[in-house]
Amino acid sequence: MSSPDRLSVRESVALMDGYHSPQLDVAVRLNTNESPVPPPEGWAEALQAALADIEWHRYPDRGAHELRAALAKHEGVAPEQVFAANGSNEVLQCLLLAFGGPGRIALTFEPTYALHSHIARLSATQVVSGEREEDFSLDADYASTMVAEHRPAVTFLCSPNNPTGMVEPPQLVERLLTDISALPGLLLMDEAYGQFDPHTAVDLVDEVRPLAVARTYSKTWSMAAARLGYLVAPSWVVAELDKVTLPYHLDSFKQIAGRLALDYEDEMNDRVAMLVAERERIAAALDQLAVHHWPSGANFILLRPDSGDGDGVWQGLVDRSVLVRNCSSWPRLAGCLRVTVGSPAENDAFLSALSEVLA
Ligand SMILES: *Cc1c(COP(=O)(O)O)cnc(C)c1O
Repeated sequence: MSSPDRLSVRESVALMDGYHSPQLDVAVRLNTNESPVPPPEGWAEALQAALADIEWHRYPDRGAHELRAALAKHEGVAPEQVFAANGSNEVLQCLLLAFGGPGRIALTFEPTYALHSHIARLSATQVVSGEREEDFSLDADYASTMVAEHRPAVTFLCSPNNPTGMVEPPQLVERLLTDISALPGLLLMDEAYGQFDPHTAVDLVDEVRPLAVARTYSKTWSMAAARLGYLVAPSWVVAELDKVTLPYHLDSFKQIAGRLALDYEDEMNDRVAMLVAERERIAAALDQLAVHHWPSGANFILLRPDSGDGDGVWQGLVDRSVLVRNCSSWPRLAGCLRVTVGSPAENDAFLSALSEVLA
């Protein structure tokens, strides 16, 4: 039945597709870049014990002081330079609510993480999409020109970049930062996969540079279920973000879970080292197969079967109970698939299924 009087959504929402990451019931799930292993048992036990002390009838610490202090120590910055939210996606949303909005521009360089432009549009920020080169690197002169031409309020870089896996050279980051300082504007570095590669922009964060670095518990910390992410940025950026969050947006449980996780940094580093080794093992195996793959500094690899039949290969893998991300229909990624680095057994299952499908 049609409802002529039903209120329509606002125009910017009507134009959009929701964000989808299809899930299927398969044995090997390598499609959303999660960690294949749970957090350490010691953390789970410490969390259990800490739960007993939560005053459930009280609101949580609104400023998440202990969590922010612990993150600040972990990242080597001041607590005033840390903002935490429900996943780094909410961090980005807060940044755009505060610094984007009507009449302002967000600049992305495609292909990159679809949520950057999606969240920008949700916040009524105009999106300007720059393009990466044929090999998915970003030309520094071009990026610089785009910044000068469009004067974006927020420029997004993702390093390692999702879905390509490629790492931005530090010279490019520093050059863009200089360009953006002159606008004025902000550079948002999305480092959701930052621990999988030696480069980080966190070291460049101070009180002067207009640089904000987003990180998350979802990937390296094996805590996707917790929905917790954070930003390292000058205190004058963080102070504005605190104004646009909903009151008490971080519940007590999450604040404790995130703070305790930082006590298990060695275990996190071990998991990262295992995944980096597995990533290199997968890359070497892919060299022997009829696929092209891109160099990755993350916990996933983008590949394209030489046949160009991404959909067919994706289905062949699903038929063998292996789910990877089908990027075939994404702009510039025709025929491409993205595989998350899983446990050694999962990666073996993926590689043998892929060899079969390609044979
Ligand atoms: C997975 C991912 C995130 C994580 O988002 P959360 O909301 O923290 O789970 C952020 N940025 C990129 C590029 C990602 O791939």
